[in-house]
Amino acid sequence: MMQGSPPASASLEQLPLTQLKGVGPALVEKLNTLGISTVLDLLFHLPLRYQDRTRLTPIGALRHGSDVVIEGVIAGCAVMLGKRRSLLVKVQDGTGLTNLRFFHFSNAQKNALTTGSRIRCFGEARWGKGGLELNHPEYQLLQEAMPLPLAMHLTPVYPATEGLQQTRLRKLLEQVLEKLQSSGALPDYLPAVLCRQERFIGLLEALQLLHQPPPDISLHHLEHGQHPAQIRLVFEELLANYLSLRRLRDEAQSQAAPALQHHTNLQQRLLQSLPFELTAAQLRVSREIANDLAKPLPMLRLVQGDVGSGKTLVAVLAALQAVESGYQAALMAPTEILAEQHFLNLDQWLTPLGVELGFLSGKIKGKKRQQVLHDLAGGKIQVMVGTHALFQEEVQFGLLGLVIVDEQHRFGVHQRLTLREKGKHAGTWPHQLIMTATPIPRTLTMSAYADLDCSIIDELPPGRTPVNTVLISAQRRGDVVERISTACKHGRQAYWVCTLIEESETLQCQAAEATFADLQQALPDVRIGLIHGRMKPKQKAEIMAAFKAGSLQLLVATTVIEVGVDVPNASVMVIENPERLGLSQLHQLRGRVGRGSQESHCLLLYQTPLSEAGKLRLGIMRESNDGFYIAEKDLEIRGPGEILGTRQTGLMAFRIADLTRDSYLQPKVKLWAEKIRAQQPELVEPLIKRWLANAEQYGNV
Ligand code: ADP
Ligand code: MG
Repeated sequence: MMQGSPPASASLEQLPLTQLKGVGPALVEKLNTLGISTVLDLLFHLPLRYQDRTRLTPIGALRHGSDVVIEGVIAGCAVMLGKRRSLLVKVQDGTGLTNLRFFHFSNAQKNALTTGSRIRCFGEARWGKGGLELNHPEYQLLQEAMPLPLAMHLTPVYPATEGLQQTRLRKLLEQVLEKLQSSGALPDYLPAVLCRQERFIGLLEALQLLHQPPPDISLHHLEHGQHPAQIRLVFEELLANYLSLRRLRDEAQSQAAPALQHHTNLQQRLLQSLPFELTAAQLRVSREIANDLAKPLPMLRLVQGDVGSGKTLVAVLAALQAVESGYQAALMAPTEILAEQHFLNLDQWLTPLGVELGFLSGKIKGKKRQQVLHDLAGGKIQVMVGTHALFQEEVQFGLLGLVIVDEQHRFGVHQRLTLREKGKHAGTWPHQLIMTATPIPRTLTMSAYADLDCSIIDELPPGRTPVNTVLISAQRRGDVVERISTACKHGRQAYWVCTLIEESETLQCQAAEATFADLQQALPDVRIGLIHGRMKPKQKAEIMAAFKAGSLQLLVATTVIEVGVDVPNASVMVIENPERLGLSQLHQLRGRVGRGSQESHCLLLYQTPLSEAGKLRLGIMRESNDGFYIAEKDLEIRGPGEILGTRQTGLMAFRIADLTRDSYLQPKVKLWAEKIRAQQPELVEPLIKRWLANAEQYGNV
């Protein structure tokens, strides 16, 4: 065993697939669609589940729904004419009699299944017309003189693709494992001391076990990812992931960044103009940021804080530090609406201080766009607000010192990295501040953000009243409309949020339009506005301004208002079909109310019947106002892709690890990763290469 040794030069894991027997271009193409392009990928292509073909089940002991091997004598074979023509074969083994049923069969097939022949079948037993039957089993006729051995180990069932049979995949893996056994060309990069202390089995042994498990293996453990062989591989994968993020960080830290002097003139003037004091948490986090910015190394800091904890102000204070040192700051938001909101806020706060603001989104075109680009490149604009349009090729900054990304989880890891590239100029990198509105569970932070320092604003501004959340079935929609009417009569303002399961923005907007029309009918005395993503920026800004000013009382919206919208007098929110949204998203939405001093209500107007899972989820919303708690639950229920916003990008797609199931390993992973970095840094590269070679951008940006 070559534990902890550097990579062998011609190790088998680097081999192209075509080096395997029987693999030509057509097969390679099919394997590619499964994400398999090397022999190593094939090795890591683990079974989804297993079949037990290692023992015979007596026919008398068949149970519905189980995969079984049976062996017996054919007691009859006949074509049945019914709704669907089928071939029925009776098989008995001394303990009982069962039917094999084939809906597709040839005459030759039928003729070969003669009464008295011995047959062995594999298939799933299911209740049929004549008791338990096997539909379309795999079968083999047996010759008396040539006994057929049973499988030695469990039979793997792999993720497959059209035109690529299980048997083909099984044969390929048998070939690979055999080669590896004889050549020993799969170096094990985990340090021997780690394997000893954690009682890990070897890499090859683990792979062998999972591809060809012995009959007595615990299927229960396998199904839950708790078999030592799985844990060993998961650990190595998480380790490689962590190491790659840490390496990214090292790379960033080896770059220069402008040291932004901590003059506090502008900051003081802003704070004096506000009607409130910073919370202790805001102050602490601001200091952490200020210290980072003053260093000649690029800051990489993640600020987490629950909805309404005042992250924007913290970000703006950082931007002022850049401005006062003669640099530009950019604030990037994930949606048009949020970017506009930020712009309006910043305009209020910064324009009186004489700070020049700019705004850019995809919808700003023509002359206006040219002007903005010109002012930005020339350095006239000091703080630039926008959507990811800010990071297009044509956008040039004069002297960018700080990049602030709001609501990072919607950008995903990938964009974070390209963004860093974008801000690079004249050999220095800008500082980076990342703010997430969705609190991220700690173990997930370790997997996804190990390249960042982390600050938490763990306090809400004083005087906030927790939102009272109630669940109401859609049948009582009338009551809800009544409540809105009363609230508006009392001078309150409300949101009505329409959701749809479809990703389509058009459909969402149509739903909002329909609801808007309904509510206008039902509430003729209430001044109602409508806002959705398909409206022109100017139109949206006007609606938001009217709502903020109180001239609109009820705002019908799609989930575009999820993030960032800030109207303290709005104290009621109705969310339609909340069962369709993730918990973190609901929490975000709900965070739009409860910003003022009066008691706030969130009415979750769900469709009946509500599934058990739906009840559980909405129950969590009713119970808790704590974003971190809700995020933990969201992680349990929906998995990390949703929370990190990487579901589509696939970047956090692990081969074997499952961040929900396996996050308990993370603290240990971190510990060992740091040890390896310090004591055996030569292992870092091969580990990353082995596990993340496919996500090239990931490691090399
Ligand atoms: P989030 O963290 O969700 O982005 P915001 O930055 O939008 O929160 O802040 C929410 C609201 O709280 C805004 O109206 C903001 O002006 C206000 N705010 C921020 N800090 C304080 C504070 N220390 N005291 C009172 N209100 C504050
Ligand atoms: Mg915010």
